[in-house]
Amino acid sequence: MISIATWLVREITQAAKESYPNECCGLLGGTGNLDGAITITQARATSNVAKGLIKNHFEVDPKVHFELIHELRGTNERVIGHYHSHPNHPARPSEEDLKMAFDPNLLWFIISLDQSRINEMKVYKINELTAAFQEIPLTTFVEDDQ
Ligand SMILES: [Zn+2]
Repeated sequence: MISIATWLVREITQAAKESYPNECCGLLGGTGNLDGAITITQARATSNVAKGLIKNHFEVDPKVHFELIHELRGTNERVIGHYHSHPNHPARPSEEDLKMAFDPNLLWFIISLDQSRINEMKVYKINELTAAFQEIPLTTFVEDDQ
């Protein structure tokens, strides 16, 4: 089970809207572990540094990834995953996504949107046995902006 505050959902979906029709991406910090429960505690937007068309590709800026790992060292938070958007496509991992999914410890948040609205947000992780994406239940909770 993954929990995320509604203000963070707003932050991520806003980034998806602003990048439309291109894919947005960013990193997620959180606490807990997948055997129990995970709470997402922060989102860090990065540029989409994918080479080629960013309408259907994304790559988190590795520099920001490194900085965030460094920043969270010694705290109870860690880099727990990342998010990206699927403009005009369902919130289902693409074949391209599967090629890039080599870290079983990272959660994948995918936001589906079209020009006028956010359709849905889903979370996946790589199942180490099947090497396929597996959806994980997501719940949102209301918490004041920090
Ligand atoms: Zn994707």
